[in-house]
Amino acid sequence: MAVSDVPGPALTGPCDALVRVTLSAVCGSDLHIYHGHSPVDEGATLGHEFVGVVEQAGAGVRAVKPGDRVVAAFFTACGGCRLCRRGWWSQCESRAIFGHGRYFGGLGGGQAERCVVPNADLNLVPIPAGVGDEQAVFVGDILATGMFAAERGMICPGDTVAVVGAGPVGLMALMCAQLYGPSRVFAIDTIGGRLELARELGAVPLDPAEAHPQVEIQRHTGGAGADAVLECVGQIRAIETAINVCRGGGTVSSVGVPSEVNADFPYFDVWNRDLTFRSGLANVHAYMRPLLDMIEAGRLHPERVISHRLSLDQAEEAYRLFDSREATKVVLTP
Ligand SMILES: [Zn+2]
Ligand SMILES: [Zn+2]
Repeated sequence: MAVSDVPGPALTGPCDALVRVTLSAVCGSDLHIYHGHSPVDEGATLGHEFVGVVEQAGAGVRAVKPGDRVVAAFFTACGGCRLCRRGWWSQCESRAIFGHGRYFGGLGGGQAERCVVPNADLNLVPIPAGVGDEQAVFVGDILATGMFAAERGMICPGDTVAVVGAGPVGLMALMCAQLYGPSRVFAIDTIGGRLELARELGAVPLDPAEAHPQVEIQRHTGGAGADAVLECVGQIRAIETAINVCRGGGTVSSVGVPSEVNADFPYFDVWNRDLTFRSGLANVHAYMRPLLDMIEAGRLHPERVISHRLSLDQAEEAYRLFDSREATKVVLTP
């Protein structure tokens, strides 16, 4: 992985837009590429969380025009296939992911000066004037994922919520869970800095090295456990923790990107305890507009997770900082 000079991308069709990137971020799934767990072709440009200004738009683009500030969804959808028409853009039959090379649709990446966005009317959303780049940059990925996790957690006012993993996605899920009026939100992680931020964001931090999460959450809920659990790690141990801390009849909503595909899923426990288990890759397009509205209204502050601001030239250092967990979240300015 390296920073290099490559030819700028160009429009390939009438529905494309060329975006001059003003800010991008390094995401946990970029680390899957960084470690070779996710295949990518040599020379592919990385990055799928980005905002920028439309520089050029094809003749068929209606919703954005040159000069508009925009945020991109991390994947593109066609808008016309059977599942797009049902509002399941994440299940689009021609879904492609930015910055993942030709194995995921051959789109460019946003950790660059420019990026081409196909089907721009659907895959770009204009940013309201009152919302800054640092506030908008997560709307097309980790903030939408946090919202997806919270919504599918079926949280009711007064509920107890547990968030497993207080990394960037977990912190977003925590902020979104609070929109549903829970009585309390527990955040489970082992990293002090993340737990501290979770506490500042209104959660009760729980470090498994210090207290058993299941015992601790049951102690606060009359022995029952959390009504809704949002799993934001993607490892089987986190799934097990999520299931263990959930009350009988409760809901586990999992959005962590699975990193162990052959692990045994504890389905006996899910059955025996009448749990609802939901998982998935966020249906991002459904959330972008409402999230921007909530940010503009001051009800969400996603920029709170940013710990490091670097230039695109320092991208290698950004990956190192993020991978070593010295950074909670890194943004890059071209
Ligand atoms: Zn991502
Ligand atoms: Zn589609």
